[in-house]
Amino acid sequence: MKYGFQLVSAIVIAVGIGVIMAQESAPQKPMKTQPTAPAAPQGKVEKSAAEWKAQLTPEQYRVLRQAGTEPPNGEVYHQFKKQGGGTYYCVGCGAELFSSQHKFDSRCGWPSFFDASQNKNLILREDTSHGMRRIEVLCAGCDGHLGHLFKGEGFATPKDQRYCINGVTLLFVPEGEEKPAVKKPTEETKK
Ligand SMILES: [Zn+2]
Repeated sequence: MKYGFQLVSAIVIAVGIGVIMAQESAPQKPMKTQPTAPAAPQGKVEKSAAEWKAQLTPEQYRVLRQAGTEPPNGEVYHQFKKQGGGTYYCVGCGAELFSSQHKFDSRCGWPSFFDASQNKNLILREDTSHGMRRIEVLCAGCDGHLGHLFKGEGFATPKDQRYCINGVTLLFVPEGEEKPAVKKPTEETKK
């Protein structure tokens, strides 16, 4: 009996470790994706650095809160290119920012949009860092750094401008993503 109990305990522990390891090794996509839209922020979202660090991944924190730039043509960009229709929100505060209707392939290596879906949720300001004159794009909900806006580059898009956005700052909600439908009986099973 004693050995039997020990064996059962060993199996339970082994299965437990296996489950934990499986969860840890599950690949995390760099751009957060979820099936439902986040709640829109009510007023300006202000948090301490420690609170932001607890909420965001280190890469999201570096870009969004410290005006960093993700590497071009990285995993997040390939994730962006493969995405279908949907809406993009700020991963920091949930403000709606962009729509897949405005995304285009600028070949610059970062997610590109020729327009915003909610202009009121974006702050544009002059950025003269790195010896360049650029327009910085920030989230109006949390003042998080999203990327830059370039105009007059000659892209054949409805608006000749490019919101060059760091993919890690976005939260993607695919459109029309519904729970798997109950399988309809096929001709085979009807017979
Ligand atoms: Zn935000």
